[in-house]
Amino acid sequence: MELEEVIEDQDEQDDEILNVDDESTWLKWLVLFPGGTLPIVERNSRPIDMLRQCIAKDRTFGVACIRNVNSIGTTAEIYEYTEESRMQGLDEVRVKAKGRQRFKIIRMKNITGRIPVADVKILPEIELGPPNYQCRIASLDRLRGGSNIKRLNKVSRIDSAITPWPSWVYNLYDPKKLSSRIHNYLKFLESKGGNIPSDPTDLSFWVAQNLVITPKTALSLLEIDSVILRLQREEKLLRKLANNVFVCKRCGAKVAKQTDVFQMNEEGVQSAYCNPAGAIHETITLHKAQSLVLDNAPPSSEYSWFPGYQWTIAHCGGCRSHMGWRFTAAQRDLKPQSFWGLTRTSLVWGERESHYCDEWDSDDENNESTDQSDTEFLPPYSNIY
Ligand SMILES: [Zn+2]
Repeated sequence: MELEEVIEDQDEQDDEILNVDDESTWLKWLVLFPGGTLPIVERNSRPIDMLRQCIAKDRTFGVACIRNVNSIGTTAEIYEYTEESRMQGLDEVRVKAKGRQRFKIIRMKNITGRIPVADVKILPEIELGPPNYQCRIASLDRLRGGSNIKRLNKVSRIDSAITPWPSWVYNLYDPKKLSSRIHNYLKFLESKGGNIPSDPTDLSFWVAQNLVITPKTALSLLEIDSVILRLQREEKLLRKLANNVFVCKRCGAKVAKQTDVFQMNEEGVQSAYCNPAGAIHETITLHKAQSLVLDNAPPSSEYSWFPGYQWTIAHCGGCRSHMGWRFTAAQRDLKPQSFWGLTRTSLVWGERESHYCDEWDSDDENNESTDQSDTEFLPPYSNIY
């Protein structure tokens, strides 16, 4: 379920109401957040016409999962555009667009036309300050700057002494402290060189874009107007994820734990990639994974999403469903030498089992999976190449 929309003209009556042209490209349940990247490879004439119109105007279109009249979406600004004429007069358009602003669909129009149109309203990002700011002790203002959480907590405790509520209640709604707690959950990424935004609004979108969650949950995060509420929901999700592992969506085989995730590009740990056929895969990058079987075909560098890396298709060892790819460096000077790119739709959260995790936690790159049950059940970092 998806739709893609194109912003065409500013509405003359209201600066916040935009006129949106809408053309379907079947992006199945793709939820784009501000700051996220959307790659498109398109060979169908209608979406190509739509993209050409975008380029001729303001280079912006909208992406939304249409569930009802008031569906929420995100504007996407094209920053890379190439056209190629293929055999038999067929054209291929390649686009990369960046998520910019959330919008709400006000009304759909011309749905049945070649390029349907909708009016949308750009939504402001509401970021409130500290909840007890109005009743703070002003003489402590010089201590409120910086990111020293211990000092900020101390100031908060003193502030709350003159209010009916204890400081922990205010901390639940303080965007700076919420952000700090979320950064704590993501320390394992930052320790591997990950670049995570510090601004609460940017952080809320980054987490939403990078969490391995169902499209329905992602959409519910996009629909939240308050940054504080979005961060609160994400903190809960991260707390829950810390006690879970990633398992195969189809058979429940344990695949990876949260700390196996790492950031391969500046976008984050999860990015959307488009294959030559136009299918978009939201892919999460991991140092280690298990319970996966690699295709017998030799590694290929054709259309590789990661320059310098070759890919091999990976299936679940339990149910053989497609899970993603293993990427291996073609040159010795690339780091890491290999990693996994697994599709978001192939994974769900599953319970950690203590005996399983004990073995996992003591695992290192050279150890083999203890779950290996047959000869095709290849462990991570096997020497098959
Ligand atoms: Zn499976």
